[in-house]
Parts: sequence; structure tokens; C-alpha cells
Amino acid sequence: MAEVEEVTEGCHLPVLRRNQENEDEWPLAEILSVKDISGRKLFYVHYIDFNKRLDEWVTHDRLDLKKIQFPKKEAKTPTKNGLPGSRPSSPERDVKRKVEVVSPATPIPAPTETTQASVFPQNGSARRAVAAQPGRKRKSNCLGTDEDSQDSLDGIPSAPRMTGSLVSDRSHDDIITRMKNIECIELGRHRLKPWYFSPYPQELTTLPILYLCEFCLKYVKSLKCLQRHLTKCDLRHPPGNEIYRKGTISFFEIDGRKNKSYSQNLCLLAKCFLDHKTLYYDTDPFLFYVMTEYDSKGFHIVGYFSKEKESTEDYNVACILTLPPYQRRGYGKLLIEFSYELSKVEGKTGTPEKPLSDLGLLSYRSYWSQTILEILMNLKSETGERPQITINEISEITSIKKEDVISTLQYLNLINYYKGQYILTLSEDIVEGHERAMLKRILRIDSKCLHFTPKDWSKRGKCTVRVLRSLNVSLL
Ligand SMILES: [Zn+2]
Repeated sequence: MAEVEEVTEGCHLPVLRRNQENEDEWPLAEILSVKDISGRKLFYVHYIDFNKRLDEWVTHDRLDLKKIQFPKKEAKTPTKNGLPGSRPSSPERDVKRKVEVVSPATPIPAPTETTQASVFPQNGSARRAVAAQPGRKRKSNCLGTDEDSQDSLDGIPSAPRMTGSLVSDRSHDDIITRMKNIECIELGRHRLKPWYFSPYPQELTTLPILYLCEFCLKYVKSLKCLQRHLTKCDLRHPPGNEIYRKGTISFFEIDGRKNKSYSQNLCLLAKCFLDHKTLYYDTDPFLFYVMTEYDSKGFHIVGYFSKEKESTEDYNVACILTLPPYQRRGYGKLLIEFSYELSKVEGKTGTPEKPLSDLGLLSYRSYWSQTILEILMNLKSETGERPQITINEISEITSIKKEDVISTLQYLNLINYYKGQYILTLSEDIVEGHERAMLKRILRIDSKCLHFTPKDWSKRGKCTVRVLRSLNVSLL
């Protein structure tokens, strides 16, 4: 049996963890780092085939030293570029080997845009495919800056951008960015435990708690600093224009060029919970749509999505995130619904930039399914014949890009070929499942409450400083 001292970076061995059912299990893990705190060794482990957000520091008694696999000789060299071996990322273990059916690049044999699809209910159950996340992850490059320079990050060189995409190459994939570096973030009344690395200044990564102003998202190193900041900061909502309000939910549109400091701080916070896309400090080409919930203290950030001002690839969302305290409550779908409402006003169809995170994909799948099923089930037959609709019509009504409509119909397994025609078959299971899901979907976007005029960014001089105030709904 190996000794604790022999456990080094790159070793693989079973590590004890508690699963969701509160049971102990021993999945294989990779040691990413070892540290010594007053004579006590701690090991940073990544569980192979589990999402990186579960990575953690563990003590030696959780390591199964009997089954240790030492790193292979040739594997030791590229320490700076990450250790070979694990390329993790399935979301949860139970879906890890299922089929990925999402990629719009997947050749689609069945209906074309001109295909007329008929809809009729059918008895019996339809089998559902389960989508899993593509096993890809993206990294961000590290940025060192001190607290006082938050308002002037302009001078920091950003990595070359690739056609407006937030997706980076893998060249910055090093051991540092594979490990979460912030222990805890205090944001308003919430304490957040980051899931992934975020390039906050290095000197702040040793703090037990990083304090953020919940309105301007400025980060400071202590509660005292935060209290001092709050006496000066008079923001009670995100900067930019409030373009939507219904009940306590509002959306603010923030221009990444006009509100650079806020946008950069938002990216830093978001990176703690997004691993597959990289933020760049060049926020100019992006708009940020921040969703807030109002109470007597102000407009509290719930989530956001970013969007390129001009997308050549019909992207209507770049990054999208619901902050953890608000997850699993329907807010993610509300963000997605809002992004399509903007596309409807723009008269375009749109799609989120790929790759999606595991959670992002689940939300999109569910949103697409519900939106398309809603349309199919409301189709009226005029002559007693089966009602008919084209893929193009579904796409135009919903602003969901055609490829996503098709992949959703395939995912729901609705498409059948019958007597030379493509037919959509809605089983009772599908109909009942949909009705149940819609009863639970209480949070909805009300398009009447959206006050949004799309801008034609291609006509705007990129270097010209202009004051743009197309719309400013006054607050309270
Ligand atoms: Zn502030």
C-alpha cells in the first residue's frame, strides 16, 4: 500500500464522497494539487466523469491508497498545461453515457423546412432520449489586478477574440484554472460557494470570504471595506436601462462599452459558476441583460445573459446564468424566454452560443420542448383533417432557430414517417407530461411589459463616443 507522502499531482485513486442520496461511494479521482496546512496535508481532487463543480479539498483519510495509480512517466512533463488523463465533464453520473442529440451540426435526415407535419394524438408511450452535455470545457486566462484598478481594466491586454465568440481555445488550460480559487462570496444577503475558477486578483483568493456590492458588483476584501463602499455607492439597481418590469421582476439592459466596470465585474462573478466559456475583458461587443427581483432594499440580481451586439451566426445568447440561490425555481427558463422575446422584437430567429453547460442545456431543452409543444397542442384542425404546420412556421412564431426546432422534435421522438409524409405524433404521455409541466411554470414573460427597441449596431461607429439613450424607463 502506498504512503500518504507518495500521493502527488497526477495520481489517480478512489476517493470517498457522499452522493446525492447521502450514500458513501468511492469514485476514481485525479489529484490536481497537494497542500500542507500546519503539518496537515490536503488534496484537491477531481472526480473522473463527474462535473468539475464537485471538485474539492479532501483529507488523506478519504483516499483509498491501496488502489493508487501513479502518473505515467511521460505524463509528468506538461505540468504547466494541465495533467493528462481526465478530461471530465459529464454533468451527473446517471446521464453520463447517454446520447448527445443537440448539436445543430448533426445531420438531420428527417423533415426539411418545407415538410408539412401533421399532428395527431396517439395512444401508448413515446420513448424519450436523454441529452447529456458534450464533454467539453473551456478555460479562462488568469488576470492579476488589484482592487483599486477595478474601474480601469481597459489597459489590460485581452486575449485575441475569435469572431465575437466567448469560447476560447485551450491554450490557457493550466492547472491553476482547473481549480476553484474563491472560497466564498458574499453578495447581498447571500453567501455563494463558487464552483469554478474565476480570475479575481490573486491576493483575494486567500480570503475566507470575498465581499461584493450586490448592486455595482465591485469586489472588496473585507466587510469593513464593503461598508465603506456602501456609504459611497448609491446604486440600488444594475446600471443601464430597465427595459422590462412585471411584478417584482425587472430586466436591465447594460452596454458592455458604456458600463465596462460593471460588465467586467459581472463576468468575474459569472465565471465562478460557468466553466465552459471564457470571459474576456473586452466587453464592448456585448450587451448584458440582468434580471432582478425587487424589494424595499433595491433590485437584487437573480441572473443574467450576455448577447453580442452583432452576431453573424444568429446567436441571441452568449453566456447565461442563474445565480445558485435562485436556481431550480424557474428563473433560468424566464431568462431564456426573455432572450427569445428580444429576438421576436428584432424579427429574427436565434440560438444560444455553443457549447452549453450541462445545466444550460437542460433548461434550453425544457424551454424548447414546452414552447414547441404549446404550439402543436393549440393547433386547430379546420376541416376535420389533421392540423398542419411547417418547421419554418414553428421557427417564425417562436424565434427558435430551425435547427433547434428540429433537434427538439427529434429529442421528443415525435417524428414518424407514414405513407410518404412526416407526421408528428403526440402520445398521451407527452401531452400529460406537458400539461403537468405547464401548471408548474408560473413565472412567465409578459411581452406587454417589454419596452425595447432594437438598435442597428452595424451602423454605429465603433470608435466614436456617443451618448446613446434610446430608452430610459424611470425607476420607481
Ligand atoms: Zn456598489
